[in-house]
Amino acid sequence: MRLANVAGRTTIISEEGLIDVHTASDGAFSSSIDKAINNLEALKKWFYDTDPAPTTVATLEEIMSRNDLGPVIENPSQVFAIGLNYRTHAEEMKLVLPTQPMVFTKFPSSITGANSSFKIPSETTDWEAELVVVFGKRVRNISVEDALSCVAGYCTGNDLSNRELQMAGSPAQFSLGKSHENFSPIGPWLTTTDDIENPNDLRISCSINGTKYQNSNTSDMVFTVAELVSYVSSVCEIRPGDIMFTGSPHGVGQGQTPKMFLKPGDVVETTIDGLGTLRNKGI
Ligand code: ZN
Repeated sequence: MRLANVAGRTTIISEEGLIDVHTASDGAFSSSIDKAINNLEALKKWFYDTDPAPTTVATLEEIMSRNDLGPVIENPSQVFAIGLNYRTHAEEMKLVLPTQPMVFTKFPSSITGANSSFKIPSETTDWEAELVVVFGKRVRNISVEDALSCVAGYCTGNDLSNRELQMAGSPAQFSLGKSHENFSPIGPWLTTTDDIENPNDLRISCSINGTKYQNSNTSDMVFTVAELVSYVSSVCEIRPGDIMFTGSPHGVGQGQTPKMFLKPGDVVETTIDGLGTLRNKGI
């Protein structure tokens, strides 16, 4: 099932079009997407079992052209992010491969939707295409074997980064440089786990103004999604609606020769096959 935040309302994207969940369920499910993800199993059952199928209000094309896709989670209590989790990206950053996951946060106020614009804060503003995990259950200390059972679904994300601020100071601290306004676009919708066989077998890419700079596969991750979830849950309680950026493959601006960074007017397109495309413009 694909679940989107369209103009602030929980919306299912079906083959036939868009279903406004609150209206079509006669108020049984909330119009708030955060609340809907808290109640995901019941929502899925309603969607798959309702006969005849719930009425659609618009086609996906109509909505995409209205440019009002919000983030698939509006207020996550925690945003986990993983650094250097692709072998080839660690090489291009000239950093050694981590022996345990390198975890930081992108502050939740940086979360935005699939088609938003972001202000460019420095001359070293960079892109990082990433698979984003959205959690659906409250867990602690989950094993690698069971880790994916607490995942609600996946979406496409970009971990936009102000390299100057990220690397300022010694030692470097990542979180602020990755938390400027609209630096965490996620979407365009949430694809639930029943539609994604293996999160570590997805093609991931990023284009700037139509030229592809990142083109990889989530199979190149140093730590798999299940290993990351298990590791983080050994310290932090994971809660419904929390999200995790799982690291970026090679091909970021910092890794180009010569280095290349975003400027006002640039359009960043981030795609994960099966999960959809984000289109974010620098201003
Ligand atoms: Zn990243």
